[in-house]
Amino acid sequence: MGQKLSCGTSDEHELFSAVQCGDLETVKGLFERNPSLVHHSTVYDRQSALHIAAANGQIEVVSMLVDQSVNVDLFNRYKQTPLMLAAMHGKISCVEKLIEAGANILMFDTLNGRTCLHYAAYYGHSDCLKTILCAAQTSHIASSWGYARFVNVKDGKGATPLHLAARQRRPECVHILLDNGALACASTGRYGFPGSTSLHLAARAGSLDCIRELLAWGADRLQRDDSGRIPYTIAFRHKHGACAALLNPSSAEPLVWPSPLKFISELNEEAKHLLECALIEANKEREKNILKGTTYSPPSPTNSDNEMDDNVSEVSDTEVCCICFDQVCTIQVQDCGHQMCAHCVLALCCHKKPSPTTTSPTAPVCPFCRSIIVQLDVIKLEKKDGTSHDVSSSKLRKSRRSRNFSEGSNSFKSLSAVSSFGKMVARGSGRIAAEDVYIDKPIILD
Ligand SMILES: [Zn+2]
Ligand SMILES: [Zn+2]
Repeated sequence: MGQKLSCGTSDEHELFSAVQCGDLETVKGLFERNPSLVHHSTVYDRQSALHIAAANGQIEVVSMLVDQSVNVDLFNRYKQTPLMLAAMHGKISCVEKLIEAGANILMFDTLNGRTCLHYAAYYGHSDCLKTILCAAQTSHIASSWGYARFVNVKDGKGATPLHLAARQRRPECVHILLDNGALACASTGRYGFPGSTSLHLAARAGSLDCIRELLAWGADRLQRDDSGRIPYTIAFRHKHGACAALLNPSSAEPLVWPSPLKFISELNEEAKHLLECALIEANKEREKNILKGTTYSPPSPTNSDNEMDDNVSEVSDTEVCCICFDQVCTIQVQDCGHQMCAHCVLALCCHKKPSPTTTSPTAPVCPFCRSIIVQLDVIKLEKKDGTSHDVSSSKLRKSRRSRNFSEGSNSFKSLSAVSSFGKMVARGSGRIAAEDVYIDKPIILD
């Protein structure tokens, strides 16, 4: 502190220190005294003032420099832009400011040939990741390069942002990327072990959450890397017991998001959130059986019976899903107005595995009236005291003792045309099987 370097470099040194700690007044004063300082960079890494400010989240300095019309896409020694550094360090306000000022999101550094999207994914800054993706959707990148191509952009070794997020155990970033069209089955070039998929990388890292996400988006447990190994082998070798159990090709297949994904992406946010929760819940339920044999025990205090559920329920019979009689109706089909629970909606739309080779599957239809489902709405529950109740955050379940059976068998008949339904329910919750709706104990399959 207080040390000054001799003459020529002293201003420069003072500038970079002031930028780093966000001392706006000093920075301003220095620029007034010596305007050419704007073009200076550090000796070794060639970081400009904007790089340093962005990396340290000094938004006021970033704003000032941007307002002085400093080139926002300056390079440091590794051709990293200030935006890349902001994304790397999770400085969201700087990411936003730089993008707003026209920073190019499609620049590649010379270290690993990575973009700002790679950096946000690698370091797990999901807010930065979202902002960059949002910018890509609205910028010329979408029309010139293609949005899907941007989401799946490869670095110098063939790693996509999804590969990096899976390798670094960043489930939230994995989720966002998949949700934006990242390809779950894409394999790397030379990154990691050649030919690895994101599932291989998550298996190596031992990230159960990433594996869950990837499987739910159709990642293939049987896909081999260039050495012929499936993800299961890798998880097993690295002693990630629970991951290996889920990746074991002989354990039950998880539910996979409906294909085409278009159906889901066009959903309103609330409905989508409910479906996501239902899918995760169903898969976790299914995992319980798989993980039983491993040393890993699921984090939730769940016993196989959910006896406590009877106490949770405080809603009338009319709100119970007429398809499964297990969950409360949370979703309403637009236009026809038929209601069901998120689990059942999911079951209607779920396909075993989205395959690029098969022709596009038919649109999901309402099980009650057979009209095509175009949009789903979330039902707001009214509690007795008049306050609305957020159904998405609760785990409402209706006691099976109070349900209406005659109605039940009818809806089941109308559902029989939906091929995947029975399979899913049996596999998903383990609570009901086919027409036999009055079962007190969960069914353990396979
Ligand atoms: Zn249901
Ligand atoms: Zn209907």
